[in-house]
This record gives sequence, structure tokens and C-alpha cells, in this order.
Amino acid sequence: MNSYDVAIVGAGIVGAACAYECARRGMRVVLVDREMVGSGATAAGMGHIVVMDDSEAQFALTRYSQRLWQQMRSELPDDVEYEECGTIWIATDDEEMQEVERKRGYYAAHRVATQILGSGALRELEPNLRAGMRGGLLVPEDGVLYPPCAARFLMERAQEGGVETRLGCNVVAMGGERVLLDDGLEMHAKFLVNASGASAPALTPGLDIKQRKGHLVITDRYPQFVRHQLVELGYLKSAHSMTSDSVAFNVQPRRTGQILIGSSRQYGAEHKEVDHEILARMLQRAQEYMPGLGAMSAVRTWTGFRAATPDKLPLIGPLPSDKSVWLATGHEGLGITTSLATAHLLVDQMTGAPTEIPNEPYLPSRVGKEHAHA
Ligand SMILES: Cc1cc2nc3c(=O)[nH]c(=O)nc-3n(C[C@H](O)[C@H](O)[C@H](O)COP(=O)(O)OP(=O)(O)OC[C@H]3O[C@@H](n4cnc5c(N)ncnc54)[C@H](O)[C@@H]3O)c2cc1C
Repeated sequence: MNSYDVAIVGAGIVGAACAYECARRGMRVVLVDREMVGSGATAAGMGHIVVMDDSEAQFALTRYSQRLWQQMRSELPDDVEYEECGTIWIATDDEEMQEVERKRGYYAAHRVATQILGSGALRELEPNLRAGMRGGLLVPEDGVLYPPCAARFLMERAQEGGVETRLGCNVVAMGGERVLLDDGLEMHAKFLVNASGASAPALTPGLDIKQRKGHLVITDRYPQFVRHQLVELGYLKSAHSMTSDSVAFNVQPRRTGQILIGSSRQYGAEHKEVDHEILARMLQRAQEYMPGLGAMSAVRTWTGFRAATPDKLPLIGPLPSDKSVWLATGHEGLGITTSLATAHLLVDQMTGAPTEIPNEPYLPSRVGKEHAHA
């Protein structure tokens, strides 16, 4: 009775996308979560659908997934709030403007449309930025969505396709084609998918995934105060830092007129509580870029945990030591963007179908290889 083709642990946006894709390909699927759909990092994320150029592999995955979101656009219900508002990467000085040029060149070579903005053009598009910014790079195809509703939508699609869901069920072990719940119930499947986000090492011991805490603040409604997702170019330095706590200016306009203010990154912070010191630093940084934010009312502040791998790429594919276990985790700050591509790559590999982009950079087996060469 408890036998399936695929058993997925984790009903975040990644698990939900995988369930939907498995169902679309005719597989019998069960999806288990100890809480609810989209209640982990998915509920805490910003929902910026962004193309990134840290590495070729990161670019390939983010671009592929952005295209999948675009293709799904007409099916997305209103409450997913998908908007192609574009990203503006902001340069404060000449040095950062050189980075704008480099980024533009990279995107042009990879056929991503961009537009360089001088100081005046930037101010026209975003009049509430501090005066005196040097310029920026507009990436018009980037967008935003509301992650909890996106996860719920994918889950509903999966359920329409026959996926069974078991919510409020804590998985205590997975491996050898078997998933074990804490009440003793066992489920059997040829493919077991660990999509439990930052908790993945608890079910697959030895995974090098660290929790990376982040804070976000949402304001009351101030329509049109911000019009694009605005990110400082220093954001990359913040995302790259492997040791220190970091903050970066990153704000997002919501359809409600609210403004989502981020972001922070911390290793070794295991508790969900708001850290007032880092929150103050984050808000200070935001006001350096947009002084008017300081006069706004914040309605809520929260934290979430990104699942960070050492090479900043997710783990998508079979576990070398147990071929029944497949990983779909380690997406750090890009799991909303890359959820759809993750699902396609995972199911293509399971079914032996050709993958749209090379899958090797994301294979869990790369980690062992790195160690062997070290
Ligand atoms: C502050 C912040 C801002 C972010 N902004 C963005 C952004 O703008 N764009 C972007 O693309 N990404 C962003 N991210 C990253 C994104 O939110 C995550 O990468 C993504 O949500 C990961 O989804 P997931 O499904 O892998 O994990 P999760 O959403 O964490 O889901 C994992 C699920 O597994 C379940 N689970 C765990 N252990 C067990 C168990 N033992 N038994 C049963 N169930 C279990 C949990 O209950 C949970 O529901 C942000 C993250 C943070 C924290």
C-alpha cells in the first residue's frame, strides 16, 4: 500500500516543483512534510527571480529556470503575484560602474537583455534612491513572485496529477528505497528525494550543507516608492563571504505597495530569533541607498535559513553512496528562482531523458571528487 515510484521529503518550493514534474511524467508520488506546504525557507524568501553570473553553472541554472517561470506565467494564479519588474544593480562609484560594464558584457554574450543606466536615467527610474548614485544595470526580464503561493500552486498542480501528500509527518530516516516516519510508518519507493532544504544533512548525514540565516523586513504600503528590485553591486561580495556576517542593500516592490527590505547573511546562527544588531546594520545599509525608508513603518520582521553548499551550487541528482537517494537541496539564496529547473533536471536524470542544460555541475558526486583531488 505504501509503495510509490518516488517519495519526496520536503514540501518547500523545491519539493513541490519536483512533485509536480514527477506527476507530469506519470510517476506515482508521495510527498511528506513535517509541517505545511512552503513553511520552511520558502515562506521566508524574497521571491526575486533573478539571473546570476557568479559562475557559468549558476548562470545556466538561473537562466533556464527563469525561462521556465516565464513559460508558466499565463497559468500562475493572481496570488502568486508574478511581475517582471526587472532588477537594477546599483553602482555607487566608478569602480562599481566598471562592474556594471563587465556584467553587461557577460549578459550580452549570453543573450540576456540589459540596459546601462547613467546617474540621470537611474534617478528617473527610481527617484527615491539617494542622489549622487553613479548608475546601474537594468535587467528587465528579472522578476518577483510571492513564494508561499507559488509553492502552493505547484503543490495543487501536483495533487491534480495524483501526488499524495502527507503533511505534519516527521521523517526520521531515508535510504535503501525506504522512508521512515517517527510514528513507525514506512514508505517504499525506487527514488527517494531529499528536498528538506537546510535540514537535509539530518536525513543524509555527511552532506556539507550549512544553514545561512537571513533577515527580511516588510513595510506598510507605499505604492510606487520602489519600482524595480534594487540590489547593490556589493551584494555579490556579501553573498560570497564564507565567514563573516554580512548585509547588503536589496529591496523589492510588492504588488500591495509594500516594500520588502533585505538582506543579511549569517553562518553559525542557529536560532530563528531576530538578531537586532544585524537587523540594525541591514536597515542602516538600506537607508544609505534610500534615505526615505527610514521614515516608513515596518509591519513585520522575520528570519529564514538558506541551505548553503561550499561551491554555491545546489545538489541535484543521485547520492553516490545510495543510489535510491536523490538530492534536491543546497539552493542557498536562489531556490525560488531555480526550483523549476531543479525539478526538470532531477526528473530528466531519473527517467534517462536528455537534460536541457549540462547536469554535471550540480551532481552530488562532484563533492566527493573535489575531496579526492584536494
Ligand atoms: C531571507 C531569505 C531571502 C531569500 N530570497 C530569495 C530570493 O529572492 N530568490 C530566490 O530565488 N531565493 C531566495 N531565498 C532562498 C529560497 O527561499 C530557498 O532557497 C528556497 O525556499 C529553498 O526551498 P526548499 O524547498 O529547498 O526548502 P524549504 O522551503 O526550507 O523546504 C524544506 C521543507 O522540508 C521540510 N522538512 C525538513 N526536514 C523534514 C523532516 N525530517 N521530515 C519532514 N519534512 C521535513 C520542512 O518542513 C520544509 O517545509 C531566500 C532565502 C532567505 C532565507
